[in-house]
Amino acid sequence: MGVPFTRAAAITLSDIGERVLASPQRLTVLGATGSIGESTLDLVGREPERFEIVALTAQSNAEKLAALAIKHRAQIAVVGDERCYEDLKAHLSGTGIEAAAGEDALAEAASRPADCTMAAIVGAAGLKPTFAAARQGRRVALANKECLVSAGDVFLAACRQSGAQLLPVDSEHSAALQSLAGAERAAVERIVLTASGGPFRCWPVERLKDAKPEEALKHPNWSMGAKITIDSATLMNKGLELIEAYHLFPVGVDQLDAVIHPQSVVHCFVHYIDGSVIAQLGPPDMRTPIALALNWPERRVTPTARLDLITVGSLTFEAVDDARFPGPQMAKDALRRGGSAPAVLNAANEVAVAAFLERGIGFLDIARVVARTLEEADRRGMIRATESLEDVLAADTHGRELARTVIATPH
Ligand code: NDP
Repeated sequence: MGVPFTRAAAITLSDIGERVLASPQRLTVLGATGSIGESTLDLVGREPERFEIVALTAQSNAEKLAALAIKHRAQIAVVGDERCYEDLKAHLSGTGIEAAAGEDALAEAASRPADCTMAAIVGAAGLKPTFAAARQGRRVALANKECLVSAGDVFLAACRQSGAQLLPVDSEHSAALQSLAGAERAAVERIVLTASGGPFRCWPVERLKDAKPEEALKHPNWSMGAKITIDSATLMNKGLELIEAYHLFPVGVDQLDAVIHPQSVVHCFVHYIDGSVIAQLGPPDMRTPIALALNWPERRVTPTARLDLITVGSLTFEAVDDARFPGPQMAKDALRRGGSAPAVLNAANEVAVAAFLERGIGFLDIARVVARTLEEADRRGMIRATESLEDVLAADTHGRELARTVIATPH
């Protein structure tokens, strides 16, 4: 396979094609109890001789974390929520596996020498531990898209400084990486990410305001954690992914687009200047892109169902309806606005999604809260340059506070 390029590639991918990890690979999984964490450990469990687990982390699910740590013989298990420490310790008692808790412990575990870190904590909570992993200068398999959304340039600078090798896990970005293999930067015209359209693609607009969390949580194709599933229903997930793609690949905002593709078979299209289009296809199972990120540049057997295009029958594509799903446009506008705007967008979206899941706001309010928070942040002069992780975290905190105020204000 040729050496692909990305913005991160311009920094570190000069050797991404060559840097093969030694086996057994020392692996840390941040967010081990989640959907991506589980899929990662499923692959690990199929080839245990190829991995040595350093650290596994979770937020509060101590029992599941302990079971995974015992099964995969981790050195240390960490819960972010300190109230769950005693529970974790009790479950690990007599196993010789270290237990720890709290935000600092998460970052400490992420700094323990590992050849590869799967960064799969959900949300901006993943920033500090993922930065700690990146500072090791080894491989970061990045599922936590919020890291690139909120801290894009700062995160890439941290990778550049340490020499970390960044491999995208999101299926669309893994697809783009593969579709860009061997390409010249100047030959790329556009990158188009596909979106399933979520469960409300065919709902009449007037019904959307009454959409319930349990309806939004029924993704037609993918099985994922709650937050990203709601983001898929609003299409804000595609917005976050456009920002992620902007930071990973050598294209401008106007060369990035999203298209609805209900079958979730094609993950990305790369359009070239000669009219050629290269796409990557695969079943909607995250174990395929996870396996590539863990084993890059090698491809290994995965247990995913094989794609049978005859059974799929037809592949269809539709334009994104911006009036119904403003997320992708809002994300592109935040990118154009620059500075802390994407961090504020992400923070507001996290607060709004949590409020929706708790039935505090309606489905259509999610986009409204994000838009109002960004307007208000701009009006108050809160959109500023972000030059460090601290700047990003401050923008995240302010974005959250503002979003809560927007939610509490009658409209
Ligand atoms: P899940 O909700 O399934 O899992 C999240 C993980 O993060 C859990 O281990 C959870 O622990 C932990 N966690 C939650 N909050 C915190 C916190 N405050 N501090 C530390 N750890 C925390 O999420 P997903 O696996 O679906 O997604 C993870 C990331 O991967 C997200 O950024 C998502 O956008 C991205 N992604 C996911 C895909 C998917 O198919 N699921 C596809 C592409 C990207 P606990 O179990 O204790 O709550």
